[in-house]
Amino acid sequence: MPPQARDHAVVLGASMAGLLAARVLADGYRKVTVIDRDTLPGIGMHRRGVPHGRHHHALQSGGCAALEKLFPGLIAQAAQAGAGVGDMLRHCRWLPCGHRLRQADGGVPGLIASRPFLEGQVRARVQALPGVTFIEGARITGLDTTAGRRVTGVHLRDQVGDHAQLAADLVVDATGRGSRTPAWLAEWGYQPPDEERIQIGLGAATRTYRLRPGALGPDAMIHIGHTPDNPRIGVLGMLEDGRHMLTLAGILGHHPPTDPVGFETFAASLPFGDISHALAGAQPLDDPVAFRFPAAVRRRYENLQQFPDGLLVLGDAVCSFNPIYGQGMTVAANQALALRRLLDQRGQPDAGRYFRAIAKIINPAWDFAVSGDLALPDIPGTRSLKVRIANAYLPRLLAAASFDVTLSIAYIRVVGLLDRPLGLLRPDRMLRIWWITRRKANIATVHTRVNYTPDATTRREVSPWH
Ligand SMILES: Cc1cc2nc3c(=O)[nH]c(=O)nc-3n(C[C@H](O)[C@H](O)[C@H](O)COP(=O)(O)OP(=O)(O)OC[C@H]3O[C@@H](n4cnc5c(N)ncnc54)[C@H](O)[C@@H]3O)c2cc1C
Repeated sequence: MPPQARDHAVVLGASMAGLLAARVLADGYRKVTVIDRDTLPGIGMHRRGVPHGRHHHALQSGGCAALEKLFPGLIAQAAQAGAGVGDMLRHCRWLPCGHRLRQADGGVPGLIASRPFLEGQVRARVQALPGVTFIEGARITGLDTTAGRRVTGVHLRDQVGDHAQLAADLVVDATGRGSRTPAWLAEWGYQPPDEERIQIGLGAATRTYRLRPGALGPDAMIHIGHTPDNPRIGVLGMLEDGRHMLTLAGILGHHPPTDPVGFETFAASLPFGDISHALAGAQPLDDPVAFRFPAAVRRRYENLQQFPDGLLVLGDAVCSFNPIYGQGMTVAANQALALRRLLDQRGQPDAGRYFRAIAKIINPAWDFAVSGDLALPDIPGTRSLKVRIANAYLPRLLAAASFDVTLSIAYIRVVGLLDRPLGLLRPDRMLRIWWITRRKANIATVHTRVNYTPDATTRREVSPWH
């Protein structure tokens, strides 16, 4: 590593993507500075700059694997501090598209905890790295460039309005959906990236509860997905401190109300009754809080012909997915690993190579989420042949998976970003679906409302999640 070329890296944004970027940059640069507009609170506490942190978050299996590579022992440490860590198929009830997946050991470890808890655990690890410093309560107002060709520094303004400037060999923009890189590129005379938007019109609301003992049986999470005729979603998941968080969401304006009665009525209108059943006798601990997410947005940096040196973009600033698929943190962690691989080579990381590498990480997650969104006929967008095939095939696969563990595992591995969606179309899987469908002639069209009560056997099981 030539030290003069890799002296100072500056990361804009100290949320998940920024922290993960700082982790890998700390191995390649003498000094790393992470800047955020918020004053960063203790582990588990909400902050203004991350309003989505008040809503349900789970870390998929692919994210757990990536985080372990970046911070060995982190997942076990989070589990010790109360997070739910366990098999995402054995102890989570998945009810996508009107079907109930078979619960079984899937070899798909995941993590369930509040977003501020996970961010706090990761932040503590990054703060302990030599060479990394944080500047809190400072808003990034612009970047310095040499005639727009190379980014050389960052301008900040603190909470009392004082300005400062930091020189940098590399700047990584991890400021989330509101990233100003596209506007800066236009200002410097570059083409900004093309933007793909899927207008999902999602509204969510979240409330925390203390459930009655045994209300979820041995399960750590219930995830009820939308069906083509009911665009409502509900996720009830454990938190690190014994509480549970319920996030309800609706697509295309079917937004959950934030008054307590309306909120629970919405929960009762989900395609399955599992969440309503679990809420019986629960003690609400706060009022529902709302969140709006009008569109999933992907910025196609990988297609740009020209891009300034000394600048990269990571996390939601590149692609922010429909949150119901729970992909963002896993994709950000894998982007950080891609950056680490580039830093193994000499000199500054090349932007073109970086954006092409992360596009390969984003593609399967984006394709999976977008075809799921476009299954709803009223969501605007082009239904390519690939999307139409996926949307004709997936309900059949899910229907068969409600009888078949092998198919349930195959699906959850795709949800967990361990495997590519294309693998679901493998001939052996198609054959399995055909065989099961033939035996259970009526399964392909079930969008039934099923009230679930954990039976006596499941109630007695001791869950590793608690
Ligand atoms: C409702 C919801 C639920 C979700 N659930 C899941 C889930 O279950 N699993 C999952 O993996 N992902 C989930 N996600 C996505 C996940 O939250 C994000 O992908 C993840 O947080 C990574 O975001 P980020 O760090 O790129 O951006 P953000 O979290 O948006 O962070 C941006 C940071 O930049 C700072 N910042 C912004 N502008 C400036 C500025 N000008 N100056 C200084 N600082 C600035 C902000 O303060 C903030 O700290 C969900 C998202 C939403 C909206």
